[in-house]
Amino acid sequence: MGYDAVQYDDNNIFAKILRGEVPCHKVYESERTLAFMDLMPQSPGHILVAPKVKAVNLLDIPAKNLQDLIADVQIVARAALEAFSADGVSVFQFNGEAAGQTVFHLHFHIVPRYAGEVLTHHASEQVGEDVLEQQAERVRTVLAR
Ligand code: AMP
Repeated sequence: MGYDAVQYDDNNIFAKILRGEVPCHKVYESERTLAFMDLMPQSPGHILVAPKVKAVNLLDIPAKNLQDLIADVQIVARAALEAFSADGVSVFQFNGEAAGQTVFHLHFHIVPRYAGEVLTHHASEQVGEDVLEQQAERVRTVLAR
């Protein structure tokens, strides 16, 4: 019972993406952050923002890294809103298996919301690579302005 702290695993899927060993549909990169399309989006345009620093989740990251990370979350959330002409944007973040965390490298979910549309289930349905790439390009275009 209780929260069971997980050791950071260098072979988690996001660590591999950050090292460039596994491909992703990148939308944004800074010195400290990488943002890429979620393979199983809960709404069109679902993006993940991950810090480059190794941290299991929000409970684990040094506080000094948080300010930059949340600033990048804001940059990507604003860009997603504009790129997808969304009506709103939800930002989610899960800590621990019981809370819905499935990948144990910290990430924020940027989920564009469309009036009257409900979200699909978390990490349930994969979307085509071509669709994800087109969506990533829309966000990159907004960020390039
Ligand atoms: P969480 O449950 O908060 O840990 O979320 C993990 C998220 O990562 C889910 O929304 C998955 O759809 C997504 N995901 C898993 N593997 C990949 C991958 N290789 N590339 C992009 N997104 C992924």
